[in-house]
Amino acid sequence: MDCPVCKNPMIALELKQVEIDNCFECGGIWLDAGELEILLNENDTVDSFLKSFSTANKTMEKTRRCPICLKKMKKIYVSDEKDLIIDECGSNHGIWFDKGELSQVIRQCDGEYSQLAALLKDIFQHDHKIHKPPSENIK
Ligand SMILES: [Zn+2]
Ligand SMILES: [Zn+2]
Repeated sequence: MDCPVCKNPMIALELKQVEIDNCFECGGIWLDAGELEILLNENDTVDSFLKSFSTANKTMEKTRRCPICLKKMKKIYVSDEKDLIIDECGSNHGIWFDKGELSQVIRQCDGEYSQLAALLKDIFQHDHKIHKPPSENIK
């Protein structure tokens, strides 16, 4: 799958047996629809998180295209504060987070969606580990 921003092939990171597509070029992250539910194994939490989304009709942000169907994605406000906009495929293929948006989500989720926040932090730590040289080679 290619990154919707830079068109480079994305790297799949595996977390709890779910593949999370990550672009190392721009730092964006793609989550297939349903992956959040699998990762959290807690549908109520995800439901209430997804229900806090609302469509952003007027935004200056550049439109991204879904890496699966290549159609233009919808701009979505993550919370009522309307200070964070993410991209979601209108055909429900998944959600795109630009670099930094995931950490904003973490801050907004902390407390209220602590499990989700912990999961997203997990992804970040995973991401950082990949940039370090593999320890197996040092022996
Ligand atoms: Zn990219
Ligand atoms: Zn799509």
